[in-house]
Parts: sequence; C-alpha cells; structure tokens
Amino acid sequence: MPTYHYECSNPDCPTGGQFTLHQSMKDDALTKCPECGSPVERIIGPAYVSSPKSDSDLRDKGFAKLVRRDKGVYENVTALDHESRYWDANKPGTMPDLSKRISD
Ligand SMILES: [Zn+2]
Repeated sequence: MPTYHYECSNPDCPTGGQFTLHQSMKDDALTKCPECGSPVERIIGPAYVSSPKSDSDLRDKGFAKLVRRDKGVYENVTALDHESRYWDANKPGTMPDLSKRISD
C-alpha cells in the first residue's frame, strides 16, 4: 500500500503540520486532518524527505504538490514546464508525469 504525505494547514496541529498515511490507490485523498479537522493537502512523492517548505522547494526535491480546486480537479502547483498545470481526473493526459520525478 502506498504511503501518502499530507500537509496540515493548521500551524498548531498536533501532528506537527505534516503526516503520512497508508492508503489504497483507490481511496480518495484525505481532505481533513484526522487530528484537528483542518484542511490538508496531499503531496505526491517520496515520503520522509526532509521537510521542504515552498512549492519550488517541493518541485526541486521531486515532489508534485496537488491542490484540490474542484471535484476531481487538482492544480499541480509544482508543475514542470511540460506538464499540465491542472490535473483533471477525467482527462488522463493532464496527469502529472510522476515517473520522471521518482526515477533515481
Ligand atoms: Zn491538523
């Protein structure tokens, strides 16, 4: 089961602001923090990399950060030049090119 990395929007969150969760690929992304109920963002990429802060840090470290904008639509705030900035779950061509990030 893959490990997903989440970032909680609450600076005083008991999780310390970031946590990981084992989820099935079929499960929906968590939208609320299990500890404090604040909105969370799921970060796709290798877990347990030292906590990068800004979106450009995330991109440089090979993360793809997706922010949910609508039902099934995510903005890839770390989009690379050739990637679509919006990932619509109904349009496979807009999916971030994760294989490029995770290689090596
Ligand atoms: Zn929280």
